[in-house]
Amino acid sequence: MHIASVGVSKFCFLFALAFCGLLVLLIPAFQPTARQVDLPHPRPHVRPGPAGNRSGDVATGQKGSSEGQKISSRNGYQGPEKRSNYHTIPERGAVHEGKGGGIAGSRFQDPLELKDIFIAVKTTKKYHKSRLALLFQTWISKAKEQTYIFTDGEDKELRHRTGANIINTNCSAAHTRQALCCKMSVEYDKFIESQKRWFCHVDDDNYVILPSLLRLLSSYHHSQDIYLGRPSLDHPIEAAERVKSDGSVSVKFWFATGGAGFCISRGLALKMSPWASLGNFISTAEKIRLPDDCTIGYIIEALLEVTLSQTHVFHSHLENLQKLPTDTILDQVTLSYGGFQNRRNVVSVAGGFSLTDDPSRFKTVHCLLYPDTDWCPRKN
Ligand code: UDP
Ligand code: MN
Repeated sequence: MHIASVGVSKFCFLFALAFCGLLVLLIPAFQPTARQVDLPHPRPHVRPGPAGNRSGDVATGQKGSSEGQKISSRNGYQGPEKRSNYHTIPERGAVHEGKGGGIAGSRFQDPLELKDIFIAVKTTKKYHKSRLALLFQTWISKAKEQTYIFTDGEDKELRHRTGANIINTNCSAAHTRQALCCKMSVEYDKFIESQKRWFCHVDDDNYVILPSLLRLLSSYHHSQDIYLGRPSLDHPIEAAERVKSDGSVSVKFWFATGGAGFCISRGLALKMSPWASLGNFISTAEKIRLPDDCTIGYIIEALLEVTLSQTHVFHSHLENLQKLPTDTILDQVTLSYGGFQNRRNVVSVAGGFSLTDDPSRFKTVHCLLYPDTDWCPRKN
């Protein structure tokens, strides 16, 4: 009897020991990692970016840059994107067709449609004919309802001919920091008013590949804090902190270059309101003395402490666009062309239009995306 009870307690002791050991082994499995908690979650269907797009070339910046500081919002940094939240676009097959022909993500109950995206195009009166006309002929024709043109002069003829949402900001028609920030301020307010889920900004020399944009944004939720775009520099910029303090300390932050386009979720845009709404954007930009896109980065990264999600699928003409592999072009989100120094800086796509007929390659890209368009060359 005594021997039997010793055997039982020995068995109980060994069993308890094994159970505790098992518990210790299981603890890490129940703990979320810090990264999972902190970062927004893109859909899992991703693939590595095009190699030709990571060459690390740096071109010189141009207009619109900050006074007194050697910072330009338009430097052509092409990577390498080393930061932890560097995102790629989901595979084309990773989404399903949504209502109204839109491609939408299946991850969320209420799939994103094109009509949920507010696309702001910044332009100026002198480019209404030369640049905007090409955009109306191509991608804007597929997104008329949700594209808003922010310009600086009345153009009844353009409004009449296109039936587009044209907003005369009454901002100055100069390419100065103040004038550009004035336009961005109106863009922000109009977006908030629109109730749409995403704010995307592009320049009038950008082609937006709408199916890719929808696919990219579908992999997030608009209530998350999402700031998506491409940095133009390979390092964060530094500015004197004059919003939270007296300028005696400096602050470092990343920003997405406006010339390649960027997107902000509604959830995050609402949080920007104290520094961005109803003219506050202009005073914030004045305080830090930086251009419009840098100011956006400052509000999001420095004031709200939300990290820019870097993506290589947005492109400005300060990159070498010829380096983009031809078979990846339709998977990009924005394209551009030319530029101050190199008019021939365009994506390499072949199609029904020669370089003379389509110097920007936007028509060729458009016909590859929408071959049934009436002005696209017919095969045979
Ligand atoms: N822009 C503007 N006002 C101007 C000149 C340009 O609003 O006086 C706009 C232009 O329409 C474009 C953006 O600013 O959307 C960038 O202009 P651009 O492409 O000429 O310059 P870069 O890309 O070299 O900065
Ligand atoms: Mn440009």
